[in-house]
Amino acid sequence: MINRRQFVQAVGAAPAASLIAQQSPEWGGPVLDIHLHLREDGESNVAHMKGSGVTKAILLTRVDAAGRSKALAEKYPGKFIWFVSADVLKPDFPALLSKAVKNGALGLGEIKNQVACDGPEMKRMYALAADLNVPILIHFGDVPQASGNAVFNGGFKRFDAMLKAFPKTKFIAHADTFWANVSADYAYDTAYPSGPIKPGGISDKWLGDYPNLWADMSANSCNNFLNRDPEFTKGFLARHQDKLLFGCDCPCADGRGGGRSNPSPRLQGKCIARETLGAVQKMAKPEAFRKIRWENGKKLLALT
Ligand SMILES: [Zn+2]
Ligand SMILES: [Zn+2]
Repeated sequence: MINRRQFVQAVGAAPAASLIAQQSPEWGGPVLDIHLHLREDGESNVAHMKGSGVTKAILLTRVDAAGRSKALAEKYPGKFIWFVSADVLKPDFPALLSKAVKNGALGLGEIKNQVACDGPEMKRMYALAADLNVPILIHFGDVPQASGNAVFNGGFKRFDAMLKAFPKTKFIAHADTFWANVSADYAYDTAYPSGPIKPGGISDKWLGDYPNLWADMSANSCNNFLNRDPEFTKGFLARHQDKLLFGCDCPCADGRGGGRSNPSPRLQGKCIARETLGAVQKMAKPEAFRKIRWENGKKLLALT
């Protein structure tokens, strides 16, 4: 048995060394994946990171599985941090989430419920995130899709009122409605619009206007956006280089597209992490890519 002091010393000493060993030369430096769901077998999370060249990941964790994320983070020092989510329709969610943050969760998310983004439940959630001083990662889905077939945090068009009303809340926006709204002509007819982007969309504007808004680049939703209109996208990446956070939300087994097929034909047999890192590396200046893959998340989460 080691005592608590020895344990803290051992765990405290490990991250720096292990981080240096994982500098991910493939992407020119370390990579933080801010959107990796905790899997049934946590070792599969490790395999995905290894295969996609990710240094450190945020495990998005349901509150009842928080112990598993904490254990995985302790088993692999320096590799994991974790966010926690709970059902906003259950009245005890503030107590559950507060307890998880006390236990080491560094953020709230992914928050994805069938409620309005400006309804009473989410307002409680935004206030809680500000009180706990942790970021909150939100799935915005106004267009029902085959998987889930529902609206999540609906009413994105009105979300600027929340950005104004909760200036101390650090919002991280994710999913199809956010990325589709980079284009000013989004018609809410499909989750994954294609074709050229019309400048002036609300997501683009709000990233510029509100210091408390960041964007999560994970999933088919952002990858679809990145591939629509490369000329526009180069400007977007330059403009918001301090607000964009790389994430994958990839379901593949090995970080190379194996194991699980992606419902999007464009991403079939591919790893979203690799596809999105590759696209950003190609379209952003090296300095902006460095911020997006590592620095911005490190700063937002005050990681040492
Ligand atoms: Zn999501
Ligand atoms: Zn993958």
